[in-house]
Amino acid sequence: MASLIPGQLTPIAEHAWRVLARNPGMMTGPGTNSYLFGDQALTVVDPGPADPEHLDALLKGARSLGKPINQVLVTHTHRDHSPGALALVAATGAHCVGPFVPDDGLQDETWQADRQLNDGDAVDCGGASLTAIATPGHVSNHFCYQAASGLLFTGDHLIQGSTVVIAPPSGSMQAYFASLRKLQDRGITLMAPGHGDVIDNPDTVIAGTLAHRQKREDKVLSALDGTSRPLTSLVKVVYDDVPEFLHGVAQLSLQAHLIKLAEDGKANESGQGWQRSG
Ligand SMILES: [Zn+2]
Repeated sequence: MASLIPGQLTPIAEHAWRVLARNPGMMTGPGTNSYLFGDQALTVVDPGPADPEHLDALLKGARSLGKPINQVLVTHTHRDHSPGALALVAATGAHCVGPFVPDDGLQDETWQADRQLNDGDAVDCGGASLTAIATPGHVSNHFCYQAASGLLFTGDHLIQGSTVVIAPPSGSMQAYFASLRKLQDRGITLMAPGHGDVIDNPDTVIAGTLAHRQKREDKVLSALDGTSRPLTSLVKVVYDDVPEFLHGVAQLSLQAHLIKLAEDGKANESGQGWQRSG
């Protein structure tokens, strides 16, 4: 973790460097990771928050590498990942590539993609290439980006040291499970997450995350019976292994689990809460 120092340019793989933003917090861990990626020219993957000092660190990093920044790419448009794009574009003339913005009131409304991506698209990064992999779940417009070397920029699909929050309606647990399975057997060798240090055992972490989510789903199901129970009471049982000050956030993922169980025909919402189906 020694290299997780805000503003410092840290090489992580071929053609890839990390610059940590200065926005640590409960939802961001050590802060948001921005990455510089490319051969002849650089793409900024997730410019992070609109913070002039972070922008300076990215520009300084590119200068020290002797390469221009000509592109901004984002994994998704949560406000800790994309708002820095505007100032970067103003400073460098870079163009923006990435997803659409879902209308859920939780997104960075300033994000505008010059090119909107679809699943499987190739993104040229100054001679190095990334493949866009649609990974909805954490949020519906989420993409991961895979390099030829096996490096994967994971945004908030998988982060180091913690699970991610799935907040309905733009977040979907059903989609999250599917997007985790989608990453299996793709030859991923290293993951560069939106928060935390690099993950050098991707297959183990993907399988472990799937197992963890399944275990949590099983726990949700076993907490349900024939009487309708509110989220505020269910969260205490289902997340009894999580400190109480995190229960407000956990309630979002709990709701996502319940919606998935409803889609699977195992639970239904009734009255002021949720109960088991069938
Ligand atoms: Zn996010």
